[in-house]
Amino acid sequence: SVDIKHIRQNPGLYSQNCIDRNYSAHKDSPWRIIELHEQWLALQQSARSLRERNNKLRKQLANAGSRADEEVQIGEIPNRESIIAEAKQLKEQLGGIEDKETALQDEINGLAQDLPNLSSTHTPVGLEPEVVKYINHHPESEPSKSDRVWRSHVHIGSELGILDFAGAAQTSGWGWYFLLNEGAMLEQALIQYALAVARKRGWMAVSPPSIVYSHIAAACGFQPRDQNGEQQVYAIEQAEKDKAKPSLALAGTAEIPLAGMKAGQIMQDVELPLKTVGISRCYRAEAGARGVDTKGLYRVHEFSKVEMFAWTLPDNVEGQHFSVPVTSTSDAVFSEMLSIQEEILQDLGLHCRMLEMPTTDLGASATRKRDIEAYFPSRREKDEGWGEVTSASLCTDYQSRRLHTRVKLEKGSHGLDFPYTLNGTALAVPRVIAAILENHWNEDDYSVTIPAVLRPYMGGMDKIQGQ
Ligand code: AMP
Repeated sequence: SVDIKHIRQNPGLYSQNCIDRNYSAHKDSPWRIIELHEQWLALQQSARSLRERNNKLRKQLANAGSRADEEVQIGEIPNRESIIAEAKQLKEQLGGIEDKETALQDEINGLAQDLPNLSSTHTPVGLEPEVVKYINHHPESEPSKSDRVWRSHVHIGSELGILDFAGAAQTSGWGWYFLLNEGAMLEQALIQYALAVARKRGWMAVSPPSIVYSHIAAACGFQPRDQNGEQQVYAIEQAEKDKAKPSLALAGTAEIPLAGMKAGQIMQDVELPLKTVGISRCYRAEAGARGVDTKGLYRVHEFSKVEMFAWTLPDNVEGQHFSVPVTSTSDAVFSEMLSIQEEILQDLGLHCRMLEMPTTDLGASATRKRDIEAYFPSRREKDEGWGEVTSASLCTDYQSRRLHTRVKLEKGSHGLDFPYTLNGTALAVPRVIAAILENHWNEDDYSVTIPAVLRPYMGGMDKIQGQ
């Protein structure tokens, strides 16, 4: 249920959008869709005339068989056999046309499904993000300006005996890790803390499945390969006897099972906004140019993440839905996600900045995206120390159309419509552990100070001390 009419009416807009978002391989699709639609219209026309001819033949056949109808027959009556022969031929022709119509429709739908969402007017066009604001970051305390000694989290974590990469390389390869002792406890504490912040604001906790249908992942905007042809997800090998069943993949993020939870369903408008917070393991092939981080927690194949996912009313019906103009609920939920992210990072004592992401960073589904980056001393030679720790996206109706999630509106004349969906990181564990180790490390006694908000979840422990 992609809005194909809108694409046909605005091919230039969709094509330019592909170029802006680094989906150039799809930039000709809008025009191809128009071309295919014209072929489909021509087929419809032929089918119509064949059906008309068929109806005539049926009448003739009925007349040919009944003497009572002789008076109404005009002209010569073809014999029964030739009518039957022509009708049979027509049926075959019609069947062929219908097959072609279906094939054209499938091709049109496929091309339309693969187009990225349109970008919001907030989104800078191109490669460069816009810095929106700094969080917990003052020029005088800017870590990059300090002359203190810095260590990487790999160094600190190994010294403290809480990270093990070499052991994980034996079991699983590079890009995997063991968290040990306080490292493992820190992971649980971060999950519990982030969950508590979201639940305090009324978000519903969900523990989702880690394996999802590939078509559900694709409908959410996750293809097995991204627009650069790089493998994004791990596909699950099916047993020979299950080959006919739909294919499965490991979820790269809880966003996929959470969005899928309402696939094919009709929600009630009073349920919205529905705000959920999922806790899951995430699996990333990271087969692209950037690859995994062979020495650290920054880019790994598997990690725990607390993820927010929400459905809201679509903006376009709100004017009718409420008697006074209101800020759209999708904007309000987007702001709430950002403020949850800010609260968490602020309380963890990390230096951060918020970015409005440019078109080339939006992926397939987002109309708009904001990332928060934290300062990582170990990355100060790279990206001046900044590294992404959270992301929040507004996906408008991109996912709900592809997943057939609808909302029934009680007021206004719309009836059924597609809700908007939003997703945002509450907390992705490994990068936050890395940032805590690097930013809260004390050189004098080689300890790491545990942020106060996490202490209740770590039995009151305030420091990770070397053995
Ligand atoms: P994404 O779902 O790709 O928007 O990522 C959300 C957050 O998950 C990012 O901001 C990172 O903090 C974290 N993340 C993403 N990919 C990885 C990875 N391969 N390894 C560690 N953390 C990751």
